[in-house]
Amino acid sequence: MKPIYEPRGKAKEYGDFALNIYTGCPHRCFYCFAPNVLRRDREEFHSHVEPRPGIVKETSNQLARENITGKLIHLCFTCDPYPTGYDTSTTREIIQLLKQFGNHVQILTKGDGRRDFDLLDDGDWYGITMDCGNNYTAPVAKYGCLQLAEAKARGIKTWVSFEPVLDEKAFRFLLGEVSGLADKVKIGKLNYYPSSINWGDFGREAEALCKRLGIDYYIKDSLRAEMRK
Ligand code: SF4
Repeated sequence: MKPIYEPRGKAKEYGDFALNIYTGCPHRCFYCFAPNVLRRDREEFHSHVEPRPGIVKETSNQLARENITGKLIHLCFTCDPYPTGYDTSTTREIIQLLKQFGNHVQILTKGDGRRDFDLLDDGDWYGITMDCGNNYTAPVAKYGCLQLAEAKARGIKTWVSFEPVLDEKAFRFLLGEVSGLADKVKIGKLNYYPSSINWGDFGREAEALCKRLGIDYYIKDSLRAEMRK
């Protein structure tokens, strides 16, 4: 087992290295690609969440065996490092291990990772997903912004993944909310599902808005391709 791996395809746009800690994720995003990637039953994936067997020991072995150091490691692609309602002490152990070997982490969550902020420093990234969907109410957005603000106050780098964007109006509102809190945003389209959004127009507008607000941004390749049409 090699828990630390190099993502391929669209996933590579998020990081050169990644590690997946849990077997599933309770957040039930309708667009979640992970059950397909893992060839798992969707309901089972969302309802049965536990640390992957031996994940801490195997990570420790791989770090030592391959002398992995100085890397930025994304947590996680096929799960959330902070699955809401579950014990996340394994995430803490993994972060400690990666950093002991001189690596940094790039966290992306829809949960709450504040319990581990004491482990992070200015070489680490703490990110939240804002998909701008119907469940993205003002209180939820505020909760996400609070996490970003706390991370930033501690000197941790912050980022927001606006992928997939589900609602243009909500996106514009949320981008304004995180302006000044996020050191970087990544913006991507909804893939594999129908959407009423004109992606070319949306991407050009989003880019102009980021420039106007002075936000460092990255447009995902599939959205960039629509903008060129
Ligand atoms: S947070 Fe990520 S892993 Fe979890 S259900 Fe949503 S898309 Fe899937």
